[in-house]
Amino acid sequence: MGKYQYDYLIVGAGLFGSVFAYEAKQSGKKVLVIDKRDHLGGNIYCENIEGINVHKYGAHIFHTSNKEVWEYVNQFVEFNRFTNSPVANYKGKLYNLPFNMNTFYQLWGVKTPAEAKAKIEGQRKEFANITPSNLEEQALFLGGKDIYEALIKGYTEKQWGRPAVEIPAFIIQRLPFRYTFDNNYFNDIYQGIPIGGYNKLIDCLLNNIEVRSNINYFENKEELDGLAEKILYTGKIDEFFDCKFGKLEYRSLHFETEVLDMDNFQGNAVVNYTEKDIAYTRIIEHKHFEFGTQEKTVVTREYPHEFSKDNEPYYPMNDNTNESLLLKYQELASEVAHKYIFGGRLSDYKYYDMDDTIEAALKLVKDILK
Ligand code: FAD
Repeated sequence: MGKYQYDYLIVGAGLFGSVFAYEAKQSGKKVLVIDKRDHLGGNIYCENIEGINVHKYGAHIFHTSNKEVWEYVNQFVEFNRFTNSPVANYKGKLYNLPFNMNTFYQLWGVKTPAEAKAKIEGQRKEFANITPSNLEEQALFLGGKDIYEALIKGYTEKQWGRPAVEIPAFIIQRLPFRYTFDNNYFNDIYQGIPIGGYNKLIDCLLNNIEVRSNINYFENKEELDGLAEKILYTGKIDEFFDCKFGKLEYRSLHFETEVLDMDNFQGNAVVNYTEKDIAYTRIIEHKHFEFGTQEKTVVTREYPHEFSKDNEPYYPMNDNTNESLLLKYQELASEVAHKYIFGGRLSDYKYYDMDDTIEAALKLVKDILK
């Protein structure tokens, strides 16, 4: 360590930075974690309202098929039996998701897998001869008109903020049809919500580690750099280099949260609104993630939003333009690799689920600490 006070300064107390901090401390390193927000946990942070853990940065459901990652998180927290089974509301009628026998019954009254397959084949026939050149055509080609119109079109147009005919076809590679009565959204082996909430996981990871919130790295970069031999940076990669080649693009979200004076608003954690005319894409009722029995309930309406300096970068737009911009920043990153390590969803400019984030952090740990 020599002239430095810390071995590692970790910029960002999200899941990536927290896992790395924990492991570095376990390896005997001295670490300091900073975050510009007034709380820890990054996007998995929950705010307690009326005794309910409210997912401040969007609904988070832990799911993985990676046994190592599952065992890793289970050393810190236990998980409940929550299974994500979202429901779609289209023009006042409810449909189960993902597309499964329940959905097909609700759409067409078909009762057996054979009937469902025949119905879908019939629907697809009409579009069998097109070569899809946009998302609308691709969805019609893969699933036919009924599913597209009720469950895909409006939702996707709201998400992307443009008509489906202007969205590239590759966004939908396939439609996951399930010919069983199984409403479990994920196919992973393990799933659940930490008992006690996500903050508990972060608290365990950062236990006995020096942490400072409300500190923006860039407001004091030189001084902070002087504190540690190495810096792990988990913020946006373009921002690290002053966006000198231009800004990487994201899609953002806007959340409207309210407390309702009733114990149960919608009977499910997630209800998607798939029609275009309703501006939000989903309503989250947070208590249902943890089988809450509180007297009141908290719901959040989720609106897709353009990304700007005033809102959060949520979904990277990994098209060719942004990917080539990313390459330029990655080249700069490799030039400063003696001092700076880049990691996490914002530095990698990738959509990572939580299990991917942990896997990537553990890989970094293996590469440089062990
Ligand atoms: P972050 O959580 O973003 O942490 C980065 C931290 O760095 C932040 O706290 C930020 O404040 C800090 N920071 C940035 N710049 C600076 C700076 N200059 N100075 C100081 N601090 C800084 N995954 C799932 O597995 N299941 C889900 O259901 C799920 N739902 C999601 C829903 C949405 C809407 C989104 C966007 C993601 C979802 N994810 C889900 C993914 C999950 O959020 C990520 O895997 C995880 O949060 C990534 O952790 P991270 O540490 O890389 O990034």
